[in-house]
Amino acid sequence: MKVGFVYDPVYLEHDTGQHVENARRLEAIISHLEQTGLRQQLVSLEPRAASVEELSSVHHKQHIAHIQDVAQRGGGWLDADTVMSSGSYKAALYAAGGAIRATEAVMSGEVGSAFALVRPPGHHATSQRAMGFCLFNNVAVATEYALARYNLERILIIDFDVHHGNGTQEIFYDNPQVMYISTHEYPFYPGTGDIGETGSGAAGGTTVDIPLRAGCGDNEYLQVFEQIIAPAAGRFKPQLMLVSAGYDAHWADELAMMQVSTIGFAQMVKIIKQMADELCGGRLVFSLEGGYNLTALATSVKATLDVLLGNTDIEDSLGRSLQEFAALDIAPLINTIREVHALP
Ligand SMILES: [Zn+2]
Repeated sequence: MKVGFVYDPVYLEHDTGQHVENARRLEAIISHLEQTGLRQQLVSLEPRAASVEELSSVHHKQHIAHIQDVAQRGGGWLDADTVMSSGSYKAALYAAGGAIRATEAVMSGEVGSAFALVRPPGHHATSQRAMGFCLFNNVAVATEYALARYNLERILIIDFDVHHGNGTQEIFYDNPQVMYISTHEYPFYPGTGDIGETGSGAAGGTTVDIPLRAGCGDNEYLQVFEQIIAPAAGRFKPQLMLVSAGYDAHWADELAMMQVSTIGFAQMVKIIKQMADELCGGRLVFSLEGGYNLTALATSVKATLDVLLGNTDIEDSLGRSLQEFAALDIAPLINTIREVHALP
């Protein structure tokens, strides 16, 4: 099956200066895909700007207007973590539009799966505000687009960024059509993502938070994917799967304290791909979130694309962590979450 990727230099126009979330992240990914010859194995998908109407399916009009205003005034800080330049509004429209484009390509069968290599990232952006380096919630906008455009009833979002996607969770907290599953370091920024947050009203049970203590690595993540995520997804029976793909759980990433390797990410993606193949005809859309060590980010994105392409030889120049903690016993946590969600 063909694998698509969305990229456009417009994403570099979100100029954050010396901020850890900067244009060099995407430049490192694209250059690595070119140097390794992987880019030629992919179908290039050109993004478009999301319309204000499409953003409004997720965000309040005042929030959208505020981001546009700040860009027109030349940029500035939105909160202690989140900065914009004059080009950020346009880049953010194309980031949400890029996630939509990847979704369209997968839903139409143009490609089997796709990865939107976009920035700014999106999963912290709530309906009403930007935060955590995120302006608009790209995955949420693409999800609402897919629900409406293709009359879908069940979409699964898996978020393996090391931070909890508080924005995505909030946006779909009372929507039974969208299941949100997140693995994240906890306690940690942004503070949300406790086991007891499970969705409200008719959407009870469609939020699955998996808060992991610092130090978890490949083994712990794989247990979680096999024992929580796979059965939860199997019961939900999604028609489409989106992934908030952040690579800041990598051991070399300095923003967080997890110990996942590039091979570990490839193993997670393999499980996700198997789930998509079994549950929804392989329809799978990745959208880039965090990941701040440039080598870890570039090799892990490539490993993700290799798995989607069916390539079995996964390159991992960084290897495993030298400081990987002794295997953590996360069985009690897994059992508690399985009980909370009455997983089969
Ligand atoms: Zn993150």
